Amino acid sequence: MSVNQVPFITLNRFEAGFKENFLGGVATLFEKTQFVGGPVVGELEAGLAAQTKSKYAIGCANGTDAIQIALRAVGVEKNDKVLVPDMTFWATFEAVVNVGANPVTIDVARDTCHWDIETFKKAVTEFKPKAAIMVHLYGWASPDTMEIRKYAKDNNVLLIEDGAQCYGTEINGESILGSALISTTSFYPAKVLGASGDAGAIFTNDEELSKTCRILINHGRTDHYSHGLIGWNSRIGAYESLFLKLSLEHIEARLESRRNAVKYYAEALQGLPFKPAQADSKVKENGYCAVGFIDPDLRPALIESLKKANIGFGTIYPGAMSMQSGAKAHLAGKIDNGNAHYVSQSVLNLPCFAYITKEELEYVCKTVRAHFGK
Ligand SMILES: *Cc1c(COP(=O)(O)O)cnc(C)c1O
Repeated sequence: MSVNQVPFITLNRFEAGFKENFLGGVATLFEKTQFVGGPVVGELEAGLAAQTKSKYAIGCANGTDAIQIALRAVGVEKNDKVLVPDMTFWATFEAVVNVGANPVTIDVARDTCHWDIETFKKAVTEFKPKAAIMVHLYGWASPDTMEIRKYAKDNNVLLIEDGAQCYGTEINGESILGSALISTTSFYPAKVLGASGDAGAIFTNDEELSKTCRILINHGRTDHYSHGLIGWNSRIGAYESLFLKLSLEHIEARLESRRNAVKYYAEALQGLPFKPAQADSKVKENGYCAVGFIDPDLRPALIESLKKANIGFGTIYPGAMSMQSGAKAHLAGKIDNGNAHYVSQSVLNLPCFAYITKEELEYVCKTVRAHFGK
């Protein structure tokens, strides 16, 4: 069948039998009235820990809660300063404010869209933060991830890693989520490992931190009616756990399909004013989104051509955090070299999802090349 449209993301490409397995499993949970908790949650957590090579994986309600819980678990308190990248999804900033702490936005490097060690050192020296949230945007990672981890540790900066976009990403052959002090992810349906609703998880290799997270996600409970901390209700549902557990069986195939799509774009779109981008060579990306850059003045016309051809696209993200109207009242400082703003104006994301077909990729590339008369 010839392709004449490609969505930016579609959630409907499931493996044969997936739907039947899920609905069959839901029927069983329904009959047992296992709605919150139960064995399926533990099974999912064991699968997540094994797949990310973490000692502990703790399921929770969503990726934003996961960051909030991680912040509280490491000991971030009211009025503490927390560094966040100026280029991320708003939830990273929001989580800091929601635990009563004060966000400081730190610019990213223009070429990698991530923090670099020099800017990070400068930020730690200038702001003396209690904590920092490193974000692995686009399913990439900073080539300086190891240096940033070490510098944070040596300078008593508690480093949380927001891995909402980096499920499956590796650096120097190691799982990012599994090698952090504490990391978080989101299972929002459009993420690389998506649920059929909201869900998230926290990962750590530290037993104490894992115990604190477990207490925090469940009303600060130390016992059924004993509450040792002010926590949240951030439990993961049983149906979501089942959906994710079944999805984990296919994660390698889904990652491969996404990674191949990103590679396809990189090869098929060479030599154009639109430049497809890939993660640094130290990083094995997960193919979360197909990122490209174009001169901000040329972006609107390319977007028009994509729209005309019924091709979905993204601009992840169209504005830096420090420039959001909601940021003003909370921003406790910033390092702004103009890079996050530049990225926000020049980024353009092409369709990318698990099991995108070769015909769909060809159609997108043909359209982009034709736009530039190539
Ligand atoms: C999606 C996302 C979140 C938030 O996750 P939710 O599950 O929607 O709460 C946080 N940080 C980043 C970088 C994200 O992409």
